[in-house]
Amino acid sequence: MMRYARLLPLFLLIGCAAAPGTRPRGASASPEMATDRFRVRAERILDDTPLIDGHNDIWDAMKDRRWGVADVDLTQPRPELHTDLPRLRAGRVGAQFWSAYVSTAYTGPEALRQALANIEAVRQLVARYEELEPARTADDIARIHRSGRIASLIGMEGGHTIESSLANLRTFHDLGVSYLTLTHAATTDWADAATDAPRHGGLSPFGEEVVREMNRLGMFVDLSHVSPETMHDALRVTRAPVIFSHSSARAVTDNPRNVPDDVLRLLPRNGGVVMVTFVPQFVSSAVGAWNARRDSVTAAARAAGPDSAGVELRFREWAAANPSPRATLSDVADHIDHIRRVIGSDYIGIGADFDGITSTPVGLENVSTYPALFAELARRGYSDQELRKIAGLNLLRAMRRMESVARGR
Ligand SMILES: [Zn+2]
Repeated sequence: MMRYARLLPLFLLIGCAAAPGTRPRGASASPEMATDRFRVRAERILDDTPLIDGHNDIWDAMKDRRWGVADVDLTQPRPELHTDLPRLRAGRVGAQFWSAYVSTAYTGPEALRQALANIEAVRQLVARYEELEPARTADDIARIHRSGRIASLIGMEGGHTIESSLANLRTFHDLGVSYLTLTHAATTDWADAATDAPRHGGLSPFGEEVVREMNRLGMFVDLSHVSPETMHDALRVTRAPVIFSHSSARAVTDNPRNVPDDVLRLLPRNGGVVMVTFVPQFVSSAVGAWNARRDSVTAAARAAGPDSAGVELRFREWAAANPSPRATLSDVADHIDHIRRVIGSDYIGIGADFDGITSTPVGLENVSTYPALFAELARRGYSDQELRKIAGLNLLRAMRRMESVARGR
């Protein structure tokens, strides 16, 4: 979940909302795409290998629209969302971690209450559609993918939801939660976040206990959103592979939500997976810089006076003179290239953050577009086996190892 945009007044979103698709001049249109040999190769690979995405926020996007689980029919095209069943099919999605995200605006018992309500809603959402089937294990994912359905797992985003209680963590696991993101945007009582002031220098002693308990239970420790110090502490303590459910490479785009190279270099020993995300400001330095300038323009306009119409007008004038750059599919592929160069292709996965973002890269507009990314990697010289690993085999390997650690092996 990329939350910053939604904290801004609505008018700010206009400037960064997805513009109509702009296909680069000379790029193939869809009829030619179908015969593109790289595209054909990508689709063949994704047909026999489960494509596993680490993070999708459709339930939160539905809540934002004040929809309940039964208020929308996802068997029909839903262009107002990034996700529906026809496009999941077209995108060859084999398994999805559905996010039960809870904002850090909720604290204490209310955060826990929200978490339990979201877990229940995601479970109902999955139960509602024949095409989706709940999955707990790597074997479940492989079996459900072979049956032609979409394996559905639950990720809890925000460690504040356990209210510093291992009993609550165990309850989440019992209810079907497969990973806990140790923090969201704010530092918790036991772990420092990437986008907040540090309080513990990484994990507190209780934070280390949380990691050990997750190893024992068989839950993935998710290090998206945490500070580099928390990443280092978790990697020192854990006996099971970790994941980054939706993060990209910091050496390519210097955003605190991305993974620094020194942390990447610890992954081969740990066996974990960076599930590369599509969040525009995490994958494009130009978008990141534009967002920073936008924020300073609005801050300056606000500081000038309380007149909200005036602030909006000044922002509109600025945005008209300074159109936002767009991230692209090629930017996302550059992040994958970088991680492959640093540690090889065995520790890379995909975690788009669809329906948790307000704009998307050109070429990766919704869940139907994953094959285009794999076609691009094929075009860049990735082997069939590398494409299979990045699509899902790396995550399945990490999950099997995580499961054996939980069984005490
Ligand atoms: Zn997130």
